[in-house]
Amino acid sequence: MENSRYAVGIDLGGTFIKFALVAETGEISFTSKLSIGASATRDDILATIRKAIELTIANATQNGISVSGIGIGSPGVCCEGIVVGGADNLNGWVDVHLSEIFSAEFKLPVLIDNDANVMGLGEAVYGAAKDCSDVIFLTVGTGIGGAIVADGKLYGGYKNRGTEMGHVTIDHKGIACNCGGRGCLEAYASTAALLRRYAEVSGKNESELDGFYLVQKFKEGEEAAVKCMEEHTDYLGHGIAGFINTFAPQKVVIGGGISESGQFYMDMIKKSAMSYAMPDCAANTDVVGATLGNQAGCLGAASLIFKNC
Ligand SMILES: [Zn+2]
Repeated sequence: MENSRYAVGIDLGGTFIKFALVAETGEISFTSKLSIGASATRDDILATIRKAIELTIANATQNGISVSGIGIGSPGVCCEGIVVGGADNLNGWVDVHLSEIFSAEFKLPVLIDNDANVMGLGEAVYGAAKDCSDVIFLTVGTGIGGAIVADGKLYGGYKNRGTEMGHVTIDHKGIACNCGGRGCLEAYASTAALLRRYAEVSGKNESELDGFYLVQKFKEGEEAAVKCMEEHTDYLGHGIAGFINTFAPQKVVIGGGISESGQFYMDMIKKSAMSYAMPDCAANTDVVGATLGNQAGCLGAASLIFKNC
């Protein structure tokens, strides 16, 4: 792809930083990761990002590739090149002027956005919702994160502080949520909530359970596992129906480890979502699994450059 542009895609997580050299076609020609220790300071994290960028650009240079820019997905609220705050799993990760720091050092455009947002953008540009302009992305894990792609662009609300898709209320008098609210989708439909409920219903020890075990028991037809999976997908469907009624997306893309359990999982969520959504809003909507796995972050981060530079 001689004419393709290339960008560095950085996916900053709580324990690892993943990085890749990405062609505009979506091809990854180099990728690696570096670990971030639990005690890493703000300067340690910045040094690790710097190393990741240096390694990627060195690889590009070796192969005669010139880089058009650097895209970074970071935990927290990201606005105008700055991580404002909200990244609870990274020490001191507040008011970090990422774009300014690295564009000055590498003489390249540096664009940043929230990690879940760039994953959603990655799926919309290269993955399960390729060629779709209007997409809702949800990642179901310990929590529930998400992204909105509207008319081909990430939509984050004023100052990019919105799209906390896990924190819409599905039970107004419901259980307390990590966000300080009550009855949020995340409190009912995250994998953590699913395992907690399964432990309660089955009488098994929660500390010995994980998603793989539960899915196995579901496939074996175990009564408690079937009941809990039905509840879980029903909750998710409720939340998704609200997103469908508001945004009329072409695709709702579900990511996170549990989304890789099998087609049955997507079928159950879709059935539930479609049963609650308004038919006119859902007329062009499909509910599908994410396809980029753990590469979504780097691909989406790089696509910030391709879309905006
Ligand atoms: Zn909440």
